[in-house]
Amino acid sequence: MTRLIQAVRGMNDILPEQAHHWEFFEQTVREWMAACGYRSIRLPIVEQTDLFVRSIGAVTDIVEKEMYTFLDHLNGDSLTLRPEGTASCVRAALEHNLLYAGPQRLYYSGPMFRHERPQKGRYRQFHQVGVEALGYTGPDIDAEHIVMCAGLWDKLGIADVRLEIGTLGSVESRTLHRARLIHYLQQHLGKLDDDAHRRLHSNPLRILDSKNPGMQQIIDGAPRLLDDLDEDSLKHFEELQRVLRNQGIAFEINPRLVRGLDYYNRTVFEWITDRLGAQGTVCAGGRYDGLVEQIGGKPAPACGFAMGVERLLALMLECGKDIPHAVADVYVVHQGEAATGFAWEAVRHLRAEGLKAILHCGDGSFKAQMKKADASGARFAVIIGDDEAHAAEISIKPLREAAEQVRVGLAEAADLLKQI
Ligand code: ATP
Ligand code: MG
Repeated sequence: MTRLIQAVRGMNDILPEQAHHWEFFEQTVREWMAACGYRSIRLPIVEQTDLFVRSIGAVTDIVEKEMYTFLDHLNGDSLTLRPEGTASCVRAALEHNLLYAGPQRLYYSGPMFRHERPQKGRYRQFHQVGVEALGYTGPDIDAEHIVMCAGLWDKLGIADVRLEIGTLGSVESRTLHRARLIHYLQQHLGKLDDDAHRRLHSNPLRILDSKNPGMQQIIDGAPRLLDDLDEDSLKHFEELQRVLRNQGIAFEINPRLVRGLDYYNRTVFEWITDRLGAQGTVCAGGRYDGLVEQIGGKPAPACGFAMGVERLLALMLECGKDIPHAVADVYVVHQGEAATGFAWEAVRHLRAEGLKAILHCGDGSFKAQMKKADASGARFAVIIGDDEAHAAEISIKPLREAAEQVRVGLAEAADLLKQI
């Protein structure tokens, strides 16, 4: 036998049973984004490699280890499957001069790609919904993003997520902190892992983001950026906290929150749950005031966040959210030449009237077709024999409750089905 070809490791199929959860999630997100005044933007999955190197930062886990980068052999371009969406969104906004029309509230969703070790909650193709507000100084918009998340959790039936916030300050405060950090880390050289050694001078802040358990003690003792904060950033951070308190949003301040991407400054935040095991961060974001200029645009402040769809869906189901299946209204069984011709007409009519109608396809006795009707989950079987066809009528048999079968003209059938 020919060997079966399997999906690429870490890249998952989403089967119909799960797809229906995804559709509920996507629909809820779409409605919520519209309710908050965010417009959707659709971006390519492949970008020039430089876009990510310049924005995420050359000395980061994503760019050093996780990107799917390949040479387009037809023209020699270096391309990358997007590992995240912010860089693409900013690129598109600049390329099409969206900011000329004023600040932009945007969102997008779709697959992202990172070459990580696949495990529960961590995949090589995963999905994000990203939200970006371009041209806003904040901190009101920073707070809006957090409030939007909280509202969405409610709609999804998600509980048990906690909010951690932090601030990375300005470029100046980070320069000050960087010097203190390097000084501190140099006193613990023996305890640093290889990554940390390499990043000591190129990107010491990244060391604080290490997931190596052996490094946690050193990280815990490191000087805190919060203590080197400039006055404006401190005011920004305090104002954010004030709005969150007014909005009744609980948070903890995490002075160690540094995020894995270089473009962040000032506000950073993460939503974390304990119900999913090790991969507990379901949503993360913050401010990136320097990125627009870094990608080649006129300087513009910005803030955004990305949700991990797989993790949020897992949490939603873990919290017991029940999402009813969309079942068909009718399953049309038919036998005889005239009956089959009329059955085609009946499904066209019922569908045009807004009903969900499945037409039996393939052979099968009446009895066999009725079994299929039952298995389909449809509420009614519509039965058409030659007799019905000649009278332009259909018989309606309830499948889920003990009620009488009725026979009606096709013209009245849709109204009747919508009532019962
Ligand atoms: P982590 O610390 O879990 O590696 P990250 O900081 O790399 O996450 P971000 O780049 O901030 O993640 O992406 C935002 C969200 O996207 C994460 O909070 C997470 O929910 C989700 N996410 C990131 N990487 C993956 C992945 N490989 N598989 C599934 N979800 C992911
Ligand atoms: Mg990561």
